[in-house]
Amino acid sequence: MTVIDRFLEQHSLTEEEYVELLGYRDDETVSARLKEEAVRIRKRYYGNKVYTRGLIEFTNYCRNNCNYCGIRRDNRNIIRYRLTKEEILSCCRSGYELGYRTFVLQGGEDLWYTDERMVEIIREMKKQYPDCAITLSIGEKSYESYRKFRQAGADRYLLRHETADEGLYRSLHPASMSLANRKQCLYDLKELGYQVGAGFMVGAPGQTLSHIAKDLVFLQELRPEMVGIGPFIPHHDTVYAKETAGSVQLTLFLLAVIRIMLPGVLLPATTALGTMDPLGREKGLAAGANVVMPNLSPVKNRKLYELYDNKICTGDEAAECRHCLGRRVESVGYRLVEDRGDAVG
Ligand code: SAH
Repeated sequence: MTVIDRFLEQHSLTEEEYVELLGYRDDETVSARLKEEAVRIRKRYYGNKVYTRGLIEFTNYCRNNCNYCGIRRDNRNIIRYRLTKEEILSCCRSGYELGYRTFVLQGGEDLWYTDERMVEIIREMKKQYPDCAITLSIGEKSYESYRKFRQAGADRYLLRHETADEGLYRSLHPASMSLANRKQCLYDLKELGYQVGAGFMVGAPGQTLSHIAKDLVFLQELRPEMVGIGPFIPHHDTVYAKETAGSVQLTLFLLAVIRIMLPGVLLPATTALGTMDPLGREKGLAAGANVVMPNLSPVKNRKLYELYDNKICTGDEAAECRHCLGRRVESVGYRLVEDRGDAVG
């Protein structure tokens, strides 16, 4: 039996077998077979529904200095901003009218937003929009902080593990950060009852197929409700300004693999994928993704939340994004639904 048959039958492999599977990433027949299976599973769990998450990028201040990220602390060439509670709530209002039932608060690790301030924002969002899910994506915090946010009403947390390999983790991040702490945060979040999202960048500088195989094994063990993957894209004011971007083809291959491995997973076709290829998100849906994350941030701030170069949709009003995505999703046979979009299975 080939590694492909084995994977399709068991939906899980060892690290060595994943390396072997990844060897087929450029094989069109194998890719087509994996995508076909991924779409079949996706349809079984989610029909033709695609969930939306209204993304509110509420601060680009960050205490961290990740080598790949455009809002890293050492980047002195960007204008920093913070949204007030009122601005955040006004993003939610337009999002709610557009049919979004999940709001994602994403930002750098900005200590101006103390636990008290975050709790106040989360409480108010939950009070005004009790039928919506709140997702946080604000990096590494203590168990106690995560507990407070959860108690205030946060339902989900996105914290990509970035890489499950110690050595690669160290080379992508400043010495103050560690894979051990990142993983601990993910376990803490799970224990607190959050729906958790992990993930990584495809084609991060120094990443090999063995590293990706480790990521797949880690995801297989963690079994997160959500997985975010997208191609690495260089940002001109970072350590990796001159590095090459990750491959769209490999990202699509991995989306299919992850859908097969975690059948009920919530899997976004990311903005980074749409940035690398004008039809990237449509292709993502056709490879097993079932979520899109349109931007709800005020247009005046969008350009400033530039994690990587040439990020798309930074000039569009929220309503334009909604309609554009609606058309894109329909063009590949799916439909955007007005739903919290919790994980099934
Ligand atoms: N501060 C939060 C949010 C980070 S931004 C946190 O630490 O979780 C969300 C994700 O964007 C990151 O996890 C990273 O995987 C991705 N990202 C950052 N820089 C990128 C780049 N240059 N290309 C592609 N993705 C990038």
